[in-house]
Amino acid sequence: KLLTDRMKLPFIRYNVNALIKMPNIAIFGGTFDPIHWGHLLIAETALDQFHLDRIIWVPTFRPPHKAPPLVSFEHRLAMVSLAIAGHPAFHVSAVDSQQQGTSYAIATFKALQTLEPNACWYWIIGNDAFQSLPHWRASQTLAAQCIWLVAPRLMQRAGEGERAAGEERAAGNDQPLEVAIPLDVFTSSQSGSKLNSSRLMPYLHLNGHRLEMPSVAVSSSLIRQQCRDKRSIRYLVPESVRCYITEKLLYQMS
Ligand code: ATP
Repeated sequence: KLLTDRMKLPFIRYNVNALIKMPNIAIFGGTFDPIHWGHLLIAETALDQFHLDRIIWVPTFRPPHKAPPLVSFEHRLAMVSLAIAGHPAFHVSAVDSQQQGTSYAIATFKALQTLEPNACWYWIIGNDAFQSLPHWRASQTLAAQCIWLVAPRLMQRAGEGERAAGEERAAGNDQPLEVAIPLDVFTSSQSGSKLNSSRLMPYLHLNGHRLEMPSVAVSSSLIRQQCRDKRSIRYLVPESVRCYITEKLLYQMS
């Protein structure tokens, strides 16, 4: 009996560990207007390199820092679902549609965190978007609560109504993956009978973790441009997404 109990021990320990193990979950937010192979390569690289358990794809309802998406939330959600179908670790969340307004990353994060309070959280992001993190709402809180996985990005913007043609993406491979997030700190000091308050502006230096992958010069803007120009988007997006775009006549208007 003693022997069989001993043999059971590692098995029990393994299960207890599995029970208390914090799942590694990454959020991958984006407009996905539409989703393309660049997005999929980024997510797969993050999963592999950081041994993530799950990636939650979160289409933004209305992005705060860029022009409104060209197609509806439902279309973008459908295209993400088609693109990730069958991947065991990829999941999609419609959490941003609950707000029906501007989608702030902090609200997305809080909503998902409530569902998985014991997870270790990661955020997947392209280097161009990462550089704008200091301007996000509650960036201090977000920065502190997530591990930032940053994809290299070096490319030219496709010329498009909302952007200048040929405008370069802000950040590529060679840029350091560090951002300085302003921290608001108020200090007060007593001199004589007077209480002085002053505002200090220290910074939180946040380091992103580089995703080891080749830069992929594909963007949603490029796909939209190709559609408008009646040019092929085959091999720029998954085949299921290409068929969806064709069938629903998306991105055809110039
Ligand atoms: P758009 O061209 O409309 O700006 P996009 O291609 O940047 O779209 P988004 O859905 O806005 O696509 O991107 C979601 C996230 O993926 C962002 O963090 C963005 O920086 C990143 N990303 C998208 N495409 C790439 C790429 N080719 N290389 C690296 N990061 C990318």
